[in-house]
Amino acid sequence: MAQETPTGFIDVHAHIAPTSFLKEVNKSGKSFGVGVEETDGGHALTFPGLPTLRAAGGSLADTVARSEWMQEQGIGSQYMAAWLDIQGYTLPKDKEAEWVRLLNEHMAQTAKDSGDAFRSIAAVPLRDGEQAARELEYAVKTLGMLGAMLPSDPADVDVAGVELEPFWAAAEELDVPVMLHGASHSKWPQVGPSYLAFSMGRTLDTTILAAKLIHSGLLDRHPELKLMLCHGGGSLPFLIGRVDVAYRRGMEKVTELERGGPEDYMSMLYYDTVTVNPRSLKLLLDMAGPEHVLLGTDWVWAAMSGGLMDAVGTIGLNQADQDLITRQNALRLFKG
Ligand SMILES: [Zn+2]
Repeated sequence: MAQETPTGFIDVHAHIAPTSFLKEVNKSGKSFGVGVEETDGGHALTFPGLPTLRAAGGSLADTVARSEWMQEQGIGSQYMAAWLDIQGYTLPKDKEAEWVRLLNEHMAQTAKDSGDAFRSIAAVPLRDGEQAARELEYAVKTLGMLGAMLPSDPADVDVAGVELEPFWAAAEELDVPVMLHGASHSKWPQVGPSYLAFSMGRTLDTTILAAKLIHSGLLDRHPELKLMLCHGGGSLPFLIGRVDVAYRRGMEKVTELERGGPEDYMSMLYYDTVTVNPRSLKLLLDMAGPEHVLLGTDWVWAAMSGGLMDAVGTIGLNQADQDLITRQNALRLFKG
């Protein structure tokens, strides 16, 4: 299973909807209850109870376009997670598990077929914690995947619910990171204007979920769990003072936290650099330290969001800390 990690930066936050998977579900989607339409821009999927997704194709579906871009940016390796929106979390329980297994197998194979630069991050079924735990174990031990990425607010599933307890225990036991990342099918349209869905909606999902998980005592029960918040933790690093005070005053207390208050858990979490802003990145580093911040591109968005090192390379980091953020932390956490 051991695979040499090429030299250069490591990108821990990137997405793919593998072409082979899309072709497969173009044939078998009906048996899952998923509508698939072939368009000029790729395959457009419709999951039960949800609006049709934008078509997945091109640079979201292959590793060709990104390979060139990675070379230009000095990225030696990319850990790809499935596009959150195709993880099938509104399917019935048995179908969801089957769908996720198929997705993970295509993810792992796509990474393998694309050369040493690529590794993959698993999806797990969310309607049954035991199934989620078993899928993670299969993905890590059999498929060689490096961790899991979960949608932060998957329609009618509460990721902070007790049902997922076996999954968190498995992630801690397997010693692999779990990344939280908003999906398109969030509740944001119900609480805010849709034109802010991309910038605030998705990051708000992760912000709220992370706060709920901390409040639930997750990190007391699983102190070795490696939980990573995508997009720099959303707005949680900025709001944590307020969350902490509300807890300590008893206004928002649901359990007794061993560490005293929610802010005490911020340095246990991991964050990516996808704040796309040097001032926000400085706040993160101040809160969690350079050992807890990892380089991410958020491919396919990466190429639109400015230079890869615009934030990491301009805030006066010494070389050792920059190496941690751009490579060493990834090797340590993901054991890639
Ligand atoms: Zn992303």
